[in-house]
Amino acid sequence: MSDYDVDLFVIGGGSGGVRAARIAAELGARVMLAEEYRVGGTCVIRGCVPKKLLVYASRFRGEFEDAAGYGWTVSHSSFDWPTLIANKDREIARLEAAYTATLERAGVAIVKSRAVLADAHTVQLANGDRVRAAYILISTGGAPSYGDPIPGIEHAISSNEAFHLPQLPPQVVIQGGGYVAVEFAGIFAGLGAHVTLVYRGENILRGFDDDVRQHLRMDMEKHGIRVFTGCKVAAIEQAGSRFSAHLSSGNRLTADCVMFATGRKPNVSKIGLEETGVAIAENGGVAVDEYSRTTVSNIYAIGDVTNRVNLTPVAIREGAAFADTVFGGKPTAVDHSNVPTAVFSDPEVGAVGLTEAQARAQLKQTDVYRVMFKPLKATLSGRDTTVLIKLVVDGLTDRVVGCHIVGEGAAEIIQLVAITVKMRATKADFDAALALHPTTAEELVTMRQKSASYARAAAE
Ligand SMILES: Cc1cc2nc3c(=O)[nH]c(=O)nc-3n(C[C@H](O)[C@H](O)[C@H](O)COP(=O)(O)OP(=O)(O)OC[C@H]3O[C@@H](n4cnc5c(N)ncnc54)[C@H](O)[C@@H]3O)c2cc1C
Repeated sequence: MSDYDVDLFVIGGGSGGVRAARIAAELGARVMLAEEYRVGGTCVIRGCVPKKLLVYASRFRGEFEDAAGYGWTVSHSSFDWPTLIANKDREIARLEAAYTATLERAGVAIVKSRAVLADAHTVQLANGDRVRAAYILISTGGAPSYGDPIPGIEHAISSNEAFHLPQLPPQVVIQGGGYVAVEFAGIFAGLGAHVTLVYRGENILRGFDDDVRQHLRMDMEKHGIRVFTGCKVAAIEQAGSRFSAHLSSGNRLTADCVMFATGRKPNVSKIGLEETGVAIAENGGVAVDEYSRTTVSNIYAIGDVTNRVNLTPVAIREGAAFADTVFGGKPTAVDHSNVPTAVFSDPEVGAVGLTEAQARAQLKQTDVYRVMFKPLKATLSGRDTTVLIKLVVDGLTDRVVGCHIVGEGAAEIIQLVAITVKMRATKADFDAALALHPTTAEELVTMRQKSASYARAAAE
């Protein structure tokens, strides 16, 4: 490897690249990492972390409302968006510095520059410098995609800009039905904006369990978010400092902000992939094998740029597996099954494993256990909300193959359920555990009756 300037060049300092670079360096490799924007990548700078901070901010509204039922008088609450954004920015800057320091402590050389492949062993930086590397890791992540071009699309913002708006927009139209769209709907509404979600599909959160989709939509609507499905924003017109969003259904919505959360595309363009012989997969990401190796044997790719499972913990796991495989002498393939996931909507969603529909398509016999109830906390407050908990069980083996929760704390609960699903726990194992009372999660171990249809349960 000494013919090269470095053993490993990492393109992109996000969740996956940072982890891969650090572990490779700790294993003794000479590592250089290029980042064109800010170290930490999407998750830290304009994804999971700032989003969760805004979610926390948005949930105070409900807490203030609930407080009255518990005897509290919250005389005057007011919210200041610039304060929230400034505090959030300070925390993100602290995290960025911490990531940088961790890399430097591990001996990784960081270059703040765009980097592209010049050939299979050469990376070119923005200033023209070239670095020769034995191995190259592409971890360039993804970027917001606005879908098909429409008139006035230049007036729309993506999640990137949503984190830096100067003021809270009083009226917001969000196009999209995925988790980012739903989460921002909850954030803006919780902070006091009037929100309309517009989604071209038949219901929000495609890919999630159908009961979850129906239940969340119902609860979002109860909390004042308007949800229009089966249509899309066809044009945006500026009217002074406001905007008119023309929907394909013929409706026109006036808004202070039109946000498009219509998915993300892998950052594969103009980084020298084609010229170097790195193939693109059908999913639009870099094509890789189970060890994240591309079609060029010394070039690997991990994280969102491969468009496999686009979540931070997955990118981190892939980065670690790459370093162990190439520099640790331990070939490690990442298991992409049973990845737990959450939607930090209002109320929150947590899910792991198969949806009911997937289970029915894959298994000979599927049993479903489902419970809906008003959470104890909402009894005194009078909040109109219902928790949904659902277990999907393989009827032949009794294995719990899926769990889906809508309600406060769903994400925290699902993280633990994910361990049991990974351990191949059975419904009998769940039943054998004693309930912890009074909690929401206790329902997971007390469900005895196989479930009626969701529609009937919802009506009861
Ligand atoms: C709004 C939002 C909310 C999210 N919330 C969650 C969540 O709650 N939980 C969760 O698990 N995931 C969440 N995600 C997804 C998560 O952020 C990504 O899956 C994760 O960041 C992927 O990591 P990565 O290393 O593949 O890419 P990224 O983190 O995107 O990092 C790629 C980096 O490469 C840099 N780069 C790109 N091209 C070049 C180049 N040519 N040269 C140099 N640098 C380059 C970019 O600037 C970027 O910093 C969210 C995403 C968004 C957008």
